[in-house]
Amino acid sequence: MRFMFGWLTFSGLVPASRLFLAALLSALALVTSGCAGTGLQQSGAAPKNIIILFADGAAPVQWDFGKRSSEILRGQSFAVTDIVFRDGVLGLLSTHPHGPYVTDSAAAASAMSTGYKVENGAVSITPDGQSRTTLMQAAKAAGKRIGLVTTATVYDATPAAFSINVRSRRDSQQLVDLYAVLRPDVLMGGGADYFMPSAMPGGKRRDGRDVIAEFRDGGHAVARSTAELREVSAPRLLGLFAAGDMAFELDRDPAAEPSTAEMTVAALRALSQDSPRGFVLLVENENTDTAGHANDAPSLMRALWAFDDAVKVALEFQRRNPDTLVIVTGDHETGGFSPTYAQKDLASMASANRFTAGDEQFRMLERVSMSLGMLREKLGNKPEAATLDALIGRHFPGFRFDDDLRALLLAGKPLERNFTYIPHNLIGRMVSRQTGFYWGTSGHTSEPVAVGAIGPGAELFRGYQDNTDFGKHLHRLLGR
Ligand SMILES: [Zn+2]
Repeated sequence: MRFMFGWLTFSGLVPASRLFLAALLSALALVTSGCAGTGLQQSGAAPKNIIILFADGAAPVQWDFGKRSSEILRGQSFAVTDIVFRDGVLGLLSTHPHGPYVTDSAAAASAMSTGYKVENGAVSITPDGQSRTTLMQAAKAAGKRIGLVTTATVYDATPAAFSINVRSRRDSQQLVDLYAVLRPDVLMGGGADYFMPSAMPGGKRRDGRDVIAEFRDGGHAVARSTAELREVSAPRLLGLFAAGDMAFELDRDPAAEPSTAEMTVAALRALSQDSPRGFVLLVENENTDTAGHANDAPSLMRALWAFDDAVKVALEFQRRNPDTLVIVTGDHETGGFSPTYAQKDLASMASANRFTAGDEQFRMLERVSMSLGMLREKLGNKPEAATLDALIGRHFPGFRFDDDLRALLLAGKPLERNFTYIPHNLIGRMVSRQTGFYWGTSGHTSEPVAVGAIGPGAELFRGYQDNTDFGKHLHRLLGR
């Protein structure tokens, strides 16, 4: 507002005029805070389109790891840090939910979607039992088209909290029922299981409904593979590429499952059709969080690169459509990720026996060819020593599995009380010991998350704020 009364000065005014001016200024302040959305929209500062790119479990340490590894191993700049954070507006968000200090994904995404704190596990319902307006509900009410893309199941905590209201994130069938009512114009990711009746292969619904057929009958094109996705040109799209979560980038079969960037291209193609009032699109990479839980640095690295490729797609769309706000953020940090220096072994504490994570260690991460999630699947519930050795020898070249970790793994025991993913965390520790990419936990941490925003409305996200402010700003930009 400063520019609007910049021609007014206090000098030369009689006291009564000063009082009048003070009253005028506070009235203006009330107008701007009370009707902020309308003001923004009238002034042209509100974006027509909003694209939120969301890496679950990613905070500044993950972003910097993505940037450094991308530069060293891919010879590429990292759009998140090098364009959005550098050229746009940068902020930080505190992440605590209602109650404890450390959040889960549902509570964090609920705060960012609705502007209200909820308890861990709740999906956009506050502790008093009230359903709060989600970002996608507000966008739809504002006449915008809406889209949700994720590498998780489409009914996972983040896309759900941005769209619908449920007491518990665990009731998958109910979450899909609510999607069937909301009918996002674009819905893409994994989680076909709760769209299909249990009588169909891969189906898990207990009520016999075929929700994929319902979407198709309602006018959505349906894609179940990368090839089918490439063929789709319709303005409404349901893409379900896996029964559960989509694969880690490290394990992904490109014919079966599209990349995050490919899904983003398809989503933008669909949403930008027939959209006089624009759209709101959420693109989530969930594997960044899952890799953190597993303490899987190689998978995290590939997931961050895949995410960054999607950010580049969004920025290219923005270049052609400047009335688009692009936001990059995460919901919380996962894993207490701590690239550091360490002793090569415990034989000596001398500095000569110390190494620091650097280019050579990044290259060791690059040579790993299987995610710890996939390794867990291959090992089964009762890991056998021979299978374990063969898998590590083949997919973790140059690594040795220390006896203490190996004994814990074969006994099915954890390393510590806050490392609950077995065997993932034990093999993750093997990688940490030999590369210096350590982890402090298999859970979430309280580290603030970064928000980068570029385009109309970006200024709102500057500085150190709370995650509820993020939601409030988005509702303001929608004029709600
Ligand atoms: Zn998580």
